[in-house]
Amino acid sequence: MKTLDSLHFDNTFARLSPAFFTRRPDNYESQPGATLINPRVVAVSAAAAELIDLDFASATPADLARYFSGNARLPGSEPLAMVYAGHQFGHYAGQLGDGRGLLLGEVVSIQHGHWDLHLKGAGPTPYSRFADGRAVLRSSIREFLGSEAMAALGVPTTRALCVIASDTPVRRETVEQGATILRIARTHIRFGHFEHFHYNDKPELVRELADYVIAQHYPDFIQREDRYRELLLQTTLRTARLIAHWQAVGFAHGVMNTDNMSILGDTFDYGPYGFLEDFDPTFICNHSDQGGRYSFERQPSIGLWNLNALAHALSSLLDNDTIREVLQQYEAELVATYSRLMFAKLGLQQSRAEDSDLLNSWLQLLQSNHSDYTIAWRKLCDFDEAEEHSPLRDDFIDRARFDVWANNYRQRLLHETRTRSERRAAMQRSNPKFILRNYLAQNAIEKAEQGDYTEVQRLLAVLQKPFDEQPEHEIYAAPPPDWGKHLEISCSS
Ligand code: AMP
Ligand code: MG
Repeated sequence: MKTLDSLHFDNTFARLSPAFFTRRPDNYESQPGATLINPRVVAVSAAAAELIDLDFASATPADLARYFSGNARLPGSEPLAMVYAGHQFGHYAGQLGDGRGLLLGEVVSIQHGHWDLHLKGAGPTPYSRFADGRAVLRSSIREFLGSEAMAALGVPTTRALCVIASDTPVRRETVEQGATILRIARTHIRFGHFEHFHYNDKPELVRELADYVIAQHYPDFIQREDRYRELLLQTTLRTARLIAHWQAVGFAHGVMNTDNMSILGDTFDYGPYGFLEDFDPTFICNHSDQGGRYSFERQPSIGLWNLNALAHALSSLLDNDTIREVLQQYEAELVATYSRLMFAKLGLQQSRAEDSDLLNSWLQLLQSNHSDYTIAWRKLCDFDEAEEHSPLRDDFIDRARFDVWANNYRQRLLHETRTRSERRAAMQRSNPKFILRNYLAQNAIEKAEQGDYTEVQRLLAVLQKPFDEQPEHEIYAAPPPDWGKHLEISCSS
């Protein structure tokens, strides 16, 4: 285990051509306004600290606060801002970032491999486009809790080590507290990195970046002639699997612009995201997304749209036939992963022709009943085929319709070989009890804004064990109160 002063860095990205980034000047922190005022730790994820071999106990709050506010430079880091572009809401927007994120460097853990350390909200960079380079406490807490919750749910995602609050005022719709989040991820390379160099007519840099990603993440392909096809294929398959996970767990990302798509298929950039509560496939979590481009049910098709944009950016390396052949594999991979996840949620181990109908009619039942997606699935784990009436029945207004479905489910379970208690235990590992509901995040944020960070920490602990019963935390599994159902989450962060 390492201390904060002795993390093992290997900054490979910093060794690429200078066109990919701008280094933070050595004397940056001593300039007026560069540092955050009175930084302090809001919460730390011990699970994330372990990934980079950080001995959590040895890291004092004061050290965490100064290094991860950006006020002091972490030994071994080489902070730099990466340049990237992207498509926003379907239109190419040119250069976008990184306007407020700093890649501090890459830490290597013998056990857990290579991790980027990335500080979001660390002040302006050459790519800030007149914005302040800061992040507010509200959105930093949302990203912190969101990413750690998703990791515990088994969804591919970037991680978050800590959130730091400060007394630096940051102007959004109102004046808020400036904050930072230390994100850790296998990579911070987005689809938009490739787009930036493609649209600037720099095919040699597209190639350098592609070779870099292959060397870092797919070393087995380095020598292969079809390595660029393999890169697009792996990104395609990983993106398909990622979105299948989102659909299964009921996660809406909210801003699936190509600058928010990781080349490794991780959930990336937590903005106005949301988990489904009442099951509604047309759910739009981003208040600014009036057309619903990024609604829950459109995520699978937007994933493919984004891969098309990536493929276009790789067109100097791949011919059209290859691109078409690779992208054609997206849908089958997504459906296969989605089916696997959903049938596990239903507790089905065998595979039968009627399963898709059974699943779809269950989802229709949830939709017409406005059932809470997470609660309904979790209750289904207790379904007892020997009982004539499941307690779940009382949750449905149209009982007759529920009875028809329950009868089909009962019949279908006859073909399963596990005992009821085995099936129940397995289903409870596929159907979380705890998700990050907007109102839970909102409660934690409001307390944190008053200087009380205990609720963020408590919520983190609950969300890190989403499949456990945790009877002492039953309240966190409850449906939202009325005020909590209609929170508007904007893009401002
Ligand atoms: P987002 O839609 O949140 O992914 O933001 C799009 C881009 O805008 C990101 O790449 C950021 O680098 C940049 N950006 C967002 N907020 C700020 C800010 N306060 N200061 C500088 N850049 C920002
Ligand atoms: Mg972004």
